[in-house]
Order: sequence, then structure tokens, then C-alpha cells
Amino acid sequence: MKLTDLSTIREVMTRHGVSFQKKFGQNFLISPQVPVNIAEAAVGLMPERRGILEIGPGIGTLTRELSERADKVVALEIDSSLIPVLDETLADCPNTKVLNQDVLKTDLCELIDREFISEGLHAAVAANLPYYITTPIIMKLVESRLPLESITVMIQKEVAARLVAPAGDPEYGAITASLAYYGRVERLFNVPAGCFIPAPKVDSTVIRIVLHKNPPVDVKNEQTLFRVIRGAFAQRRKTLANSLRTEFPKEIIPAAIAAAGLSADIRGEKLSLEDFARLADLLED
Ligand code: SAM
Repeated sequence: MKLTDLSTIREVMTRHGVSFQKKFGQNFLISPQVPVNIAEAAVGLMPERRGILEIGPGIGTLTRELSERADKVVALEIDSSLIPVLDETLADCPNTKVLNQDVLKTDLCELIDREFISEGLHAAVAANLPYYITTPIIMKLVESRLPLESITVMIQKEVAARLVAPAGDPEYGAITASLAYYGRVERLFNVPAGCFIPAPKVDSTVIRIVLHKNPPVDVKNEQTLFRVIRGAFAQRRKTLANSLRTEFPKEIIPAAIAAAGLSADIRGEKLSLEDFARLADLLED
């Protein structure tokens, strides 16, 4: 069964009485090469004994490619009407398990431990993410400190541009700096809107986050680091000193900025993660 074939998709979905659910961000892949490229990017760099957690298998297009390349695939799908479809489309993928679960309500630590780590498998995430919850999913994956090697996901092109932007770039923001604390983000390739049914209004980009084994900067208090990052971008048009007032008492800010070796009128978007870490330790003191 060729799941990127339009007539096959329509036939399978009609037979199971399912339709595309906009509320679940359902845009299914119809380009044969894209799922292959995502699966290779996700699995290719992993050591032997590869376990993949997929978020949102849809009708199983990417899942089948992952199943061919990994030792085990566990896929979380929120839409219960797709489960009978997946039972059929993944019937010949014995290393694949589908769970009817909402990724945002799942204890991922417990799941990854149970499905992969306890079986001696390395774990990584692969997904064509539903656009409406891209950022919450990525932040949950990194903030939960899961034992993952990497996260390879297709997301909206504009969001990808923000996640990979270097310091000083107009796209660089709180999420860019926060994510840099957890991993190295790589832009892999773009995917035009025409590669999906229904076609979304925007193009997509596949990114890979290679998670750091240890944080790239040492800070006294991680929460303070994230407060500094949040504060620095709270009022983008203002200077760092003014914007940080949303998070810290104004009397302590100028001295900390000077002690961090930064100019008094610098703006938040110029700061690297190292700058934020230095400033966080000074504000913590
Ligand atoms: N992987 C398929 C593909 O590439 O053709 C489908 C990708 S589609 C963009 C996103 C999928 O995520 C849909 O199947 C949708 O039902 C599922 N989904 C949406 N929200 C979810 C959630 N909170 N937890 C798990 N799956 C979710």
C-alpha cells in the first residue's frame, strides 16, 4: 500500500469513515521522498538498537519509513478514529506500536523508560508535528530532560527560522536562547506546502535538535537563567536594562549588566546563551 498516493489515502479514509480533522492539525504527507528523508535524518545518526517515538502518525506514512529503519517505533496519536486505519496500514510492521494518547498529557519519561530504555534501546523522536502545538511539544520534550539522543521534526518554516536564528538576528528570541541551553538545533531541509493533503497555508522545514549531554553553560540557578531570557525579550523594542525590569528589581539591573561586560544600552537580541548565563549568575548574587 502506497500511503503517499492520493487515491490510496482517499480510499482508506473513506472505507474507515474518517476525514481530516483540522482541530488536530492534520496535514498528511503525499510526497514519497519526504518521509524517507525525515526517517533517515532521525534514525541515521543513532547508534545500534534504535528506538523511535513518533508524535502524530496520522495514517502511518512516516511511521512505515521509521519502522523500516529502527528496531522499535512507538507512535502517539490523539485521534481515536485513526487507530483502526493504523491497525491496517501498519499491519506488516511488527516492530511498531500505536498508542491512542495526547502527547501533551503523556508522562514521556515513564513511556520512554518503559518502551525503550528498559529494553536496552536508544531513543529519539521523529514527527511531522501538528502546527497548532509545535512549540509546547518541543518545549515539553526538552524541558522534561528525557533520555533522548535527538528530536527530528517537521515544523512551520517561520517557526524553524526562529529556532535556528543566531544571536543578533531579528528572528532570534526567547525560545531560540532557551532551546540552545538544551540542544544544538540544525535546519535540515524545506518542504513546500504542496507536499501535504490538505495543503497548509505555509511551507515547512525539518529541523533536528541534538540534545546536549551536559548543558553548554554552567549557571547557579537554571530558573534564573530562564527568567533573564524571558525578561530580555519581554519588551523587544526596549534596551535589555529596561526589558529586564519585568522580571528583576530595577536597582540591581545596571550593575549586573556592567559586571557582565555588556554595554548599558544593549538590546536583548544581541546576547548569546553565554552572555545570558553570566548575567543570570550576577543577578542571582
Ligand atoms: N505523520 C503524519 C504524516 O506525516 O502524514 C501526520 C502528521 S499531521 C501534521 C499531525 C498528526 O498529529 C495528526 O495525525 C494528528 O491527529 C496528530 N496529533 C495532533 N495533536 C496531537 C497530540 N496532542 N498528541 C498526539 N498526536 C496529535
